[in-house]
Amino acid sequence: MQTTTVLIIGAGPTGLTLACELARRHVDFRIIERSPVPQHASRAKGLQPRSLEILADIGIAAELMMAGSTDLPFKRFNGAQLIAETPRNKFPRTDTRFPYSLLLPQTKVEEALRAKLAELGGVVEWGTTLTDFTQRDNGIICELDTAQIKCTYMVACDGGKSTTRKKLGIAFAGETHEEEQLWVGDVEVEGLEPNAWYNWMSPQYGLCALFPFKDTGIWQLQASIMPGPDGVVPTPDLEGFRRLVSERTQMPDIVIKSTSWQSIYRVNIRRAQHYRVGNAFIAGDAAHAHSIAGALGMNTGIQDAYNLGWKLAAVINGADAKLLDTYEEERIPMADWTLATSSARHKNMTNVIKEGKGGIEPVSTADTTQLNLHYRDSSLSRQTINTDTLHAGDRAPDKLLNNGIWLSEIYQGPHFTVVSSEPCKLNTPGVKCVHIENAYDNIKGYVVIRPDGYIGMITEELSTVEDYLKTFHSGSERIL
Ligand SMILES: Cc1cc2nc3c(=O)[nH]c(=O)nc-3n(C[C@H](O)[C@H](O)[C@H](O)COP(=O)(O)OP(=O)(O)OC[C@H]3O[C@@H](n4cnc5c(N)ncnc54)[C@H](O)[C@@H]3O)c2cc1C
Repeated sequence: MQTTTVLIIGAGPTGLTLACELARRHVDFRIIERSPVPQHASRAKGLQPRSLEILADIGIAAELMMAGSTDLPFKRFNGAQLIAETPRNKFPRTDTRFPYSLLLPQTKVEEALRAKLAELGGVVEWGTTLTDFTQRDNGIICELDTAQIKCTYMVACDGGKSTTRKKLGIAFAGETHEEEQLWVGDVEVEGLEPNAWYNWMSPQYGLCALFPFKDTGIWQLQASIMPGPDGVVPTPDLEGFRRLVSERTQMPDIVIKSTSWQSIYRVNIRRAQHYRVGNAFIAGDAAHAHSIAGALGMNTGIQDAYNLGWKLAAVINGADAKLLDTYEEERIPMADWTLATSSARHKNMTNVIKEGKGGIEPVSTADTTQLNLHYRDSSLSRQTINTDTLHAGDRAPDKLLNNGIWLSEIYQGPHFTVVSSEPCKLNTPGVKCVHIENAYDNIKGYVVIRPDGYIGMITEELSTVEDYLKTFHSGSERIL
């Protein structure tokens, strides 16, 4: 029988991020994907600043920044009449290299992750489906449609309909809003300049929106759709898209030339009761479903994978297996925040449509940057000195240093970093120690930054740092 240490199910953004995280730590893994070829549908339209920081750590943010845009304004029409043009909400911050959301299709994110994975020596096994599995004491026997494989850990990144989650018996409680459905799709459009997000919103029809993607010729169409006389929402197609756009826009110059993806979207608000059963984990849409308002789904999946990746690698390299319990401990509160935030943004949007005034701005707010999310309540967050604003569990704020280097460039990589206000005396293998005065909040002592960029510990005691780091290291890891 074939064997591997980690089997990743699904090569969406969650599975691919996890694969990159394991590959750059030299963990033995395989990643399988049911689809024979990469997805071509645009789906998510953007990366939030926190995800961009993560993708910068992985090494692909710069190319993604080139492929997307950050500043498309919103144009709101009533039929053919332009009633408002508002700039995109911006929440400028100096503590990140990426202060703005990046608009680009999910396909571009997946493409960049696949290229990075290939560079790191990983390969997606296309057209390969997990059909069944059995957990045993010494591993998980997985039935693929191509072979049987035994793995130590399995991570299901297999999307909202996750069959793995169901087989693991994990409840996915919540609600589905059957009454609110959207036609979504990718289209080519004539008669509109691709320099804005175009919205037609009315109490009568609901939403109709066209979002252009830079340098692709592709636009994403989203439009509210009512069920037909039989109570069923009709299946979208090119003719349907054309009829709908003509009816809602009253602008004969706008022509839908072609469509390469058509789908029906309905709001599901659900969260998995657990993220782990034995050595099987779930991540991404398999673990949480919510409204697309707020643009958080793909982003939260990427952040799940980024949390789990370094922990799996540490345990496989000899760290205490209890570390893996902190994945669920840290990520379930993030899913709850995501469900609550996207539901609130969804309500804002519904009100704007009902009232017939305002724009799409209430959907994009300072908190959806995800820069303020933290793990302060995590059992991994330790602090022995009082601090004003920064606490263990916070995302390590970035800072441009006097020498023109960002702090995040110093701690980029798969290792822990200790930022010391005194010349470094730490000598823990695999841990990078840097001496920077006044790096954070004038803290005197040590700030331990986890491999995922969150502050694990703030303390004055070197021995406390050393003890803390022993929890994560077998002593054999290297700084890459
Ligand atoms: C119209 C639309 C707009 C959206 N807008 C946004 C947005 O603006 N921002 C945002 O962050 N998110 C957005 N999302 C959500 C985003 O698309 C998802 O959150 C994201 O795709 C989740 O990634 P994932 O990797 O967890 O799952 P998926 O992308 O669903 O990937 C799961 C993969 O697993 C594979 N798979 C399933 N079962 C098996 C099996 N048994 N064996 C092998 N492979 C299997 C599937 O083929 C699939 O490729 C939007 C979604 C839609 C539909």
